[in-house]
Amino acid sequence: MIAIEQLLGGEFIPVKCRPLDVPDFAPAEAPAEASQAPALAPEEKAAALKAIDEGEVKVCTKCDLCQGRHNTVFGEGDPNARLMFVGEGPGKDEDATGHPFVGRAGELLTKMITAMGLTREQIFIANIVKCRPPNNRAPTPDETAACWDYLMRQIRIIQPEVIVTLGNPSTHALLNTKVGITRLRGSWQIMPQIADGVVGIEVMPTFHPAYVLRQYNQDTRGKVWSDLQTVMGRLGLSLPTKN
Ligand code: URA
Ligand code: SF4
Repeated sequence: MIAIEQLLGGEFIPVKCRPLDVPDFAPAEAPAEASQAPALAPEEKAAALKAIDEGEVKVCTKCDLCQGRHNTVFGEGDPNARLMFVGEGPGKDEDATGHPFVGRAGELLTKMITAMGLTREQIFIANIVKCRPPNNRAPTPDETAACWDYLMRQIRIIQPEVIVTLGNPSTHALLNTKVGITRLRGSWQIMPQIADGVVGIEVMPTFHPAYVLRQYNQDTRGKVWSDLQTVMGRLGLSLPTKN
């Protein structure tokens, strides 16, 4: 097995779980007051997600992205996951297969998950939009808004303890902020009142794996690995033993 450091960026200093930062864009009202939909029982979650995917997303025409798609990419993983990753939208490989993060960036995300001692089956991977934006451009605000309800329902059903937002579009959308990923990454944020039943979930923004591939240096990889270790600390996960 290749050492984790080789995959993710050389020496790193393990970080301790940091206390929650109060985001500077926090809504004035205390999110604790926000209404929380009753949580589904673990065995009900898979069926609830499947109903949205098969009954709604696969046939969705709520925005123009439906026109160019070959497959919708709902997202996949454990419906009871404690950890969820949220990316931007499907690329070419995802559009061709219907699965999230299966291209080059996906391979790196899979390595990141493995380095945490987890498998893709143990977590849940989703995107802001479920259909591929042309030429892999970022989703527009209209497309994000059209697709928003699906992601909110996914999060409300899964109720992860931690969401890792990958890159600017998902960080901006889920934290309702314009603050850049370079500033936000690495420190805990709290999901603001963006929808019922999702408020208060802890969010760790980090760089998108496609960005890491473009900036494949020790600094960028080390920062992502540090962010993931912070998440591991929060979830009580220890480093996988190397052999
Ligand atoms: N990039 C994303 O943001 N999502 C995917 O599913 C694949 C690549
Ligand atoms: Fe529907 Fe979302 Fe696809 Fe737009 S991107 S067509 S809202 S599933």
